[in-house]
Amino acid sequence: MSVTFGPGDLALLVDRKSRQWLVDLRPGGEFHSHAGVLRHDDIIGASPGVEVRTTSGTTVTALRPTLAEYVLKMRRGAQIVYPKDSAAIVMLADVFPGARVVEAGIGSGALTMALLRAVGERGHVTSYEIRQDHADHAIANIERFMGKVPNHRLCIGDVATDLDEDVLDRIVLDLPEPWRVAPAARRALVPGGIVLTYLPTVPQVQQAVTALEESGFGMLDTVEVLHRTWNVSGASVRPDHRMVAHTGFLTVGRLLVPAT
Ligand code: SAH
Repeated sequence: MSVTFGPGDLALLVDRKSRQWLVDLRPGGEFHSHAGVLRHDDIIGASPGVEVRTTSGTTVTALRPTLAEYVLKMRRGAQIVYPKDSAAIVMLADVFPGARVVEAGIGSGALTMALLRAVGERGHVTSYEIRQDHADHAIANIERFMGKVPNHRLCIGDVATDLDEDVLDRIVLDLPEPWRVAPAARRALVPGGIVLTYLPTVPQVQQAVTALEESGFGMLDTVEVLHRTWNVSGASVRPDHRMVAHTGFLTVGRLLVPAT
């Protein structure tokens, strides 16, 4: 990626009140908001971090979006995995450079991008998704941020019945009935491999843990990630009044090999 913005690049615009917009830069393009009109040509050729003036005289900062900023602003079809959870998933499932990973479903592609980054160019991610419309949407989101990704494969199908890969290092499941996937996960993972489920409710977690145990998974752990932002402004240093109180529970397990 070049140092300065070029045509076709993605820019995150941030106004004085920290409101954010994503813009695909094109020569001659204009961005219209309450803050006036901003010419794309004033950003193209400038360095990320640049402050640009709008026609109404206010300034807006243009940056390259981080992955977290991008996923919170991109078009959503299915509910996304939030950045706080994607970060924890990468660590709890130990998604390493070079890993072979299956995830399902692709949804809006938010978690997929975190996985693709974690496996790097030597790794591989296959996404299973039952809904073609979600898949199309997710691929558009991924390509807008990462371009075409050669080590990403999409399979339209039910991961519980259609999983056709083996020697997988990791399986990450963000779907409502991961217990249906436990037998396939057992066949597909390497011994010691890791499965992770992301589930919003306690009964789902109970059912998933039971099914994973029955399929030979052990060392099962369930956590939730509470992410509380703070207001730090002069003498006012305190937690923000509002937070996203609940997203999902992360359950992780390892495929064990019983003693003979
Ligand atoms: N992790 C995604 C969101 C996934 S939403 C993100 O961060 O953007 C859950 C997705 O799972 C939906 O798109 C749904 O269509 C898909 N899904 C549900 N059951 C499935 C199954 N058995 N196999 C494959 N995909 C499934």
